[in-house]
Formats: sequence, C-alpha cells, structure tokens
Amino acid sequence: MAKRKPEPEPENPEPQKTLNRGDSAERDTTPENPEESPETRKWSLNDFEIGKPLGRGKFGRVYVAREVKSKYVVALKVLFKKQIEKYNIHHQLRREMEIQTSLRHPNILRLYGWFHDEERIFLILEYAHGGELYGLLRENTCLTEKRAATYILSLAQALVYCHEKDVIHRDIKPENLLLDHEGRLKIADFGWSVQSKNKRHTMCGTLDYLAPELVQNKAHDYAVDNWTLGVLCYEFLFGVPPFEAESQKDTFQRIVKVDLSFPATPQVSAEAKDLITKLLVKDTSKRLSLQKIMEHPWIIKNADPTGICNN
Ligand code: AMP
Repeated sequence: MAKRKPEPEPENPEPQKTLNRGDSAERDTTPENPEESPETRKWSLNDFEIGKPLGRGKFGRVYVAREVKSKYVVALKVLFKKQIEKYNIHHQLRREMEIQTSLRHPNILRLYGWFHDEERIFLILEYAHGGELYGLLRENTCLTEKRAATYILSLAQALVYCHEKDVIHRDIKPENLLLDHEGRLKIADFGWSVQSKNKRHTMCGTLDYLAPELVQNKAHDYAVDNWTLGVLCYEFLFGVPPFEAESQKDTFQRIVKVDLSFPATPQVSAEAKDLITKLLVKDTSKRLSLQKIMEHPWIIKNADPTGICNN
C-alpha cells in the first residue's frame, strides 16, 4: 500500500478561534439540496484564504485554509462533482457528511460545514496539523506501548460515543486516523460508516482490517469495530497488520481461521498480546467489549488518559 508522505506543514497552523456548535460554518445546504433558507449562512470560496495543499485523495485535494473573518484555520477538502458522479458515490458522500457533522467528540474530526460551486464540493474540516497516523507508522515502523495504548484508548472512547449514536465506522485504519497539533488522534473519513440499529449485510472496509463476519459476508454489527482495534493494536506494536499475506485470498483465509501469531521481535509485553488475543476473536459475543478494552490492565498501565502521547 504505497501512500504519499504528508506535505510540509503550513507556517501558522494553530487555530486562532474555535468554531462552536451553532456557528454559521455548520449551517449550510447539501450538494443535493442547494436551496437554503434566507437565515442560513452560505459559504463560498471567497470566505477562505487557501494555503498549502495537505494531500490528495481519490476524489480531490485537501488544502489548509483560513476563514477570512475569524482567522480560524481549517482543512478544505475539494471534491470534483464529475468524479462523484462517475463513481456514483452521491449517497455515500451525503451519508458521510451527515454523520460526521452530527458527531462531537475530541477524537473525531469535525466537519464544520460545506458548500459547492458548479464543479466542486468543498468540505470545511477540522485541521489535523499532525497529518496521518499512517505517516508516523511508516516513519517509526512500530509505536511504543505507551503511544499504542493511548491511541487504542482514544479510539475505544470515540467508538463508545459512535456506537451510542448507532454509528458503526467499519473502516478504521491508519490512513483514516489523523493527529492534531497536540498529537491527539482523530478519526476521519466516515465514508464507509453506517447509522443503523439493525445488523448490516454490506461487504465493505479494507481487507487487512476486516472482521471474519465481514470477510464471510455475514450480518455484522458494532463488534466489527472492536475487531479492528485488535488489528490496529497489533499493527501499532509489530509494524504490520496480523493477517497480512501475499494475496487477498490468503489474507481472507488467515482472517477466517484467526491465524494469529506474535513475532519474537519487536519485544511486546504479555499484557498487550493478551488484549490483542481477546479482540481478535471470531465469536462476536466473546470479543472484548469497548468498556472492557478501556479497563484492560495494559491500557490502565500504559495509556495516557489525556489522549496526548508523543513518545
Ligand atoms: P483524503 O482525501 O481524505 O484521503 O485526504 C487526502 C490527504 O489529505 C490525507 O492523506 C491527509 O494527509 C490530508 N488530510 C485530509 N484531511 C485532513 C485534515 N482534516 N487535516 C490535515 N490533513 C488532512
């Protein structure tokens, strides 16, 4: 999986003012419904000074930008309508925007609002100064137990919040995790998430992080996110996902069999391995709950409850 390293940081990335709930950036129309009531603020490109590019995704680019009046620094994601049409992802995008706008958690990237012109859709996102966690993993290969535990705790807390709101993320992976200016982890990209009380049947997500019930195309629920925390915890500590294989077919098989083994190096504590083993469990009713993850001895011993750990 070749991924570009994040672009250099902008000179003045710190937010100078916070956009809070109720601020006008949140009120806007959707790309599918351009009509708006007179009292809602309509954002346009003129409201922003555009800075350096932060990266490029499948459907467009992301720039650091500053709202002219408040000087508030955001990330502006520019999506091309033609691309959205070509890949027929209107509904997915709309769902992503609705879900992400409604979520308020320190470990979930805020989507403040959006606007559009003839050709493009602009998403006004919280700026994650630290870039992708993926970049950090590639640089350091593996993370310290303290840092890994801090991120797993942050993720578990964010997922408790999501699951309480009936949101299953389904696509948690290092590329979808960003870091803010303090090093706090932020879940971004709700493109595959779904809001539902019922079991789901859609096959989705990224291969290495898929739970057995997803691989086998069975009905699935919140427990798929808990499995992913086990995969991530393993990858944080060993530098590779646990079921990596030459071919997709082999990865599928390893996942279904829960073919889990721990390499001798790097040296990882028995408590960390215990947590991973209790998360990578095929029977969803026996898979560790988010609450139990947060109470696990390895988390209690290593995680920084502030969510900030830079070593
Ligand atoms: P995406 O289209 O979401 O995959 O984003 C492309 C790249 O832009 C990502 O790989 C990140 O490095 C960067 N990026 C996306 N969103 C943000 C953000 N809110 N803050 C900082 N960088 C971002």
